[in-house]
Amino acid sequence: MRIYNTLTHRKEDFVPIEEGKVRMYVCGPTVYNLIHIGNARPMIFFDTVRRYFEYKNYEVNFVSNFTDVDDKIIKAANAEGVDSSVISERYIEECKKDMAGMGVRPATKHPKATEEIDGMIKMVQNLIDKGFAYEVNGTVYFRVRAFRGYGKLSGKNLDDLKSGNRTLLVTGEDEKEDPMDFVLWKPKKEGEPSWPSPWGDGRPGWHIECSVMSQKYLGETIDIHGGGEDLVFPHHENEIAQSEANSGKPFAHYWMHNAFLNIDNKKMSKSLGNFFTVRDISEKYDLQVLRFFMLSAHYRSPLNFSADLMQAAKNGLERITTCADALRAYAGDQEKGGAKQPELETYREKFEAAMEDDFNTADAISAVFELVKYANTQLAAGCEKDEALLALALLKELCEVLGINTEVKKDTLDAEIEALIEERQAARAAKNWARADEIRDLLASRGITLLDTKDGVKWKKA
Ligand code: AMP
Ligand code: ZN
Repeated sequence: MRIYNTLTHRKEDFVPIEEGKVRMYVCGPTVYNLIHIGNARPMIFFDTVRRYFEYKNYEVNFVSNFTDVDDKIIKAANAEGVDSSVISERYIEECKKDMAGMGVRPATKHPKATEEIDGMIKMVQNLIDKGFAYEVNGTVYFRVRAFRGYGKLSGKNLDDLKSGNRTLLVTGEDEKEDPMDFVLWKPKKEGEPSWPSPWGDGRPGWHIECSVMSQKYLGETIDIHGGGEDLVFPHHENEIAQSEANSGKPFAHYWMHNAFLNIDNKKMSKSLGNFFTVRDISEKYDLQVLRFFMLSAHYRSPLNFSADLMQAAKNGLERITTCADALRAYAGDQEKGGAKQPELETYREKFEAAMEDDFNTADAISAVFELVKYANTQLAAGCEKDEALLALALLKELCEVLGINTEVKKDTLDAEIEALIEERQAARAAKNWARADEIRDLLASRGITLLDTKDGVKWKKA
């Protein structure tokens, strides 16, 4: 398996620290609002990475945090006149609902920053003791110059950064030894949540959270650390500095970053007003469509969100589920384990080759479409039922890796049509022919034809 490593700028063979096991950490959302579809991209992608490792029989320990102490959460809490925890707990619950809708499985562990403060204080103290951090007026800073590897992930050079940040020196940050030094612990302000510490009451900086939670739940060195590409600098650069200064060991072997999701070819942002939450999308589409759309591009390519592309994703997904339905209708849905069919295995091989090449989900989906085409041809030719069962089992297995359920819920339109058909049946049973005819006409006006068959009423869209 090859993975593109942001740290080395190339694809590398994946060699786990411990055979058969993967330890991965993905930076989770700051919970002050409903998650947006940009946040959904790393969630869906890294869930797929985890699923693929599990398909390859790895045991995956997957940790993803909730940042539940932050300026934006405090601002939202003050606006509503409630405690920060009311805001963060509310949006953690909402986030979990969106994740379930998108087929994103809960991580092995979802630590919350506010429950890990003791560990943060310990790491900050250790960094001070080792000369990597210092305290000024209740604020603790990381001394970037003391950590030799600073800049190795982002490729940034401290002297260039310093000249770019000269203005900071005149804006009140002169208590820092170096303008690039970053905050590990900040003193309490009125109306903000705080915890006691050796440096006075205060709260942790953002970067230290992930270093501490990753180390606690996964160990000092992990296999994979992931997140969106905006996190490379400063967040991940700072995580590396803190963790490696603290332990003296490499922090993560592979750094994976997804590219951004744009809307109508523009950066998605609140100020531009081109902003969708996952909840907004769920009102128009099954969230499986959003998932399928996200996976239709390689994770390192920017992805553009538009109504046309969502429609294309919806159609693509329907091709798959329609094929699965046809296979089921033809052969039933009993388990068909063990046997392998050589032609079918070529689609599995293509799927795996794509996923092994830095998780190329776009090519993996192409392999699924090829399988669908083959299965449809087999059905049309009146294949053996066993063959249809094998094709169905493979289709389900590969879709499961992508987090796609081949048994889609009927969309709301279908449910509405079925309710009308039931009403028509009831009208006929009650010999209310006028209402029965009225419903038939209503459905006809929507392009639905009813067929009275010996197995009951069937319908089709024109
Ligand atoms: P945040 O809540 O801003 O810390 O973001 C949580 C995760 O979502 C991080 O991994 C971000 O990199 C990622 N993210 C935020 N916006 C986007 C976007 N437009 N496209 C892709 N990933 C994003
Ligand atoms: Zn993080």
